[in-house]
Amino acid sequence: MSLTVSDLIIPILVYPRSLKHFIFDTQKGGPILASSDDGICSLVFDLINNGITDILLFGLPCKRDEGGTAAADKSGAVQVATRKIKRDFGSTVNVITDVCVCQYNFSGHCGISDNSNGNVDNFKSLALLEKIATSHADSGADCVAPSSMMDGQVDSIRQALDSYGFGAVKIMSYSAKHASSLYGPFRSVAFARNNSQDLAFDKSAYQLPYSNRREAIREIEHDISEGANMVMIKPTLWYLDLVYEVKKMIDVPLVVQVVSGEYLMLWKGERVRGDNLGIFNELFETLISVKRAGSDRVITYITMDFLKHLAKSLS
Ligand SMILES: [Zn+2]
Repeated sequence: MSLTVSDLIIPILVYPRSLKHFIFDTQKGGPILASSDDGICSLVFDLINNGITDILLFGLPCKRDEGGTAAADKSGAVQVATRKIKRDFGSTVNVITDVCVCQYNFSGHCGISDNSNGNVDNFKSLALLEKIATSHADSGADCVAPSSMMDGQVDSIRQALDSYGFGAVKIMSYSAKHASSLYGPFRSVAFARNNSQDLAFDKSAYQLPYSNRREAIREIEHDISEGANMVMIKPTLWYLDLVYEVKKMIDVPLVVQVVSGEYLMLWKGERVRGDNLGIFNELFETLISVKRAGSDRVITYITMDFLKHLAKSLS
């Protein structure tokens, strides 16, 4: 069992150039790769030079609104960054885009709320997800990654993409995204401009209970039947039983995401122990274990230092 840089998909948080002076709290959020939309190409250039070919873009808007409409704006950070990357690097880099609304609406939920009762309205949310996905495809995305856990999201997005002539754009579905306590560090970055926002969201109405293995398997089978080209399990390290089991059942690539809370545990542990090289060894061991369990690709936060170390040790 070996690890190569081509096993990795690197997430990047992109924000509009108007937020250039936005300060990322790396104490809270960890060393998440981030860039303004107009500065994205230098970061992608560095990643390509270290062997990375797949990136996953998450966006922040200039302003949130009730309906999260900025997520589908053709001048949004993800759309602008995607166009720039495809213009400069073409097919050298595979651009995957996160399709959700929680970074764009007031509520922070992954769907649009029904005003009458505050609950997420699945049907309304699907209509917005279709618009977001087609706007990403129109900007040149190679693959869209719906992460909202709305029922029917893969089928809706597939139909929308096909009807707008984007039949070649793939779908990587967050099929088994659990209602986990491990997403906090990323949220503290993504929501840092909204101090009144309670970061302890209860998304259990649409994310999966981590106590129910069979439900995760059903969701994955369902997404494949709706046309998902890749399926995902998230988080990862406490879910390797699922990874092992699912890999034996499916014939599409299985992707996992080592989420910000998992990553930060490793990162902070090393900081406490004061062993700077240890983090590289721990990450390496972590990624190998994830691959050994059966994942085809791994999405994980990473520093450029680690990537250089990895590229060097593999060469
Ligand atoms: Zn979301």
